[in-house]
Amino acid sequence: ERKALGHVKGKVSKTIDGREVELVGNIGTPKDLLGLKKNDAEGVGLYRTEFIYMNKETFPTEEEQFDAYKEVLESLNPKPVVIRTLDIGGDKKLPYLKIDEEMNPFLGYRAIRLCLNEKKIFETQLRALLRASVHGNLKIMFPMISSLEELLEVKQVLNEVKADLDKEGIAYADKIEVGMMIEVPSAAIISDILAKHVNFFSIGTNDLIQYTCAVDRMNEKIHHLYNPFHPGVLRLIKMVIDNGHKENIWVGMCGEMAGDPSMIPILLGMGLDEFSMSPSAILPARNLIRACKYEDMKKTAEAVLSMDTAEQIEDYMKNLEK
Ligand code: PEP
Ligand code: MG
Repeated sequence: ERKALGHVKGKVSKTIDGREVELVGNIGTPKDLLGLKKNDAEGVGLYRTEFIYMNKETFPTEEEQFDAYKEVLESLNPKPVVIRTLDIGGDKKLPYLKIDEEMNPFLGYRAIRLCLNEKKIFETQLRALLRASVHGNLKIMFPMISSLEELLEVKQVLNEVKADLDKEGIAYADKIEVGMMIEVPSAAIISDILAKHVNFFSIGTNDLIQYTCAVDRMNEKIHHLYNPFHPGVLRLIKMVIDNGHKENIWVGMCGEMAGDPSMIPILLGMGLDEFSMSPSAILPARNLIRACKYEDMKKTAEAVLSMDTAEQIEDYMKNLEK
């Protein structure tokens, strides 16, 4: 199977009729660079920085973080590297950060909510990111944004950190794209408003599905209800892509769904610009995209968006594969 895909290495991720998209990787540490390169990733669409904070006794220093970000940026330069700020809480805990017991951790004190409340942690990470930006093509991404107020506050903190660096005479790149994840339904619904304030969206379907369908993504017992083919999920995704494009920003996806071969034709047809996935899924995805016609996939997307149930959509996609 691997060998059979060697022919798409070095090729562009483009449909038969010329629609080109970006196929990038999800990573957790600089160690993942090897897998990225082996699988010919066109960059990084999601660098989950939590791992720098985990398996430690204290918070990582600015220097430690700088080293990790620099390594990834430098190694992939000039390819884009989307680095996501700390997304701790929910199912991810830090041994040295005490968080009160919560009834619903996924609905609780996590990600950007924590960072905006414990500004020092956030500022240290932003300083490290900005300093590393001169070593490659950095794009900064914020997780779990649920309102415009939150996004504006986050951007203000970023500007304050930039002003501090200016004062200290420390360099950072002058064009750093700033984007946000769309993983909370309220953000998806107001994506027309949010799109005016960012350079890109990346749809985090792992959480977006969990919150849209009210299905805990970790709970095996209700796993059958966690369905990426749910028409409600697909409609939201389409809405986010359209709203992003109306404001001329690019829209990517970094949830598991982006690498799923039965989903890729739909997402392609909806106009998704960037697909970020586990590196091992990249060559199969490129192979699939190069065999697709964009004009046909637009019709496929239109067709599935008019269907009533996840089952109908899933069956339709299975038949298409044949
Ligand atoms: C997501 O929610 O889809 C996502 C990519 O983030 P994580 O899986 O790290 O929550
Ligand atoms: Mg998420």
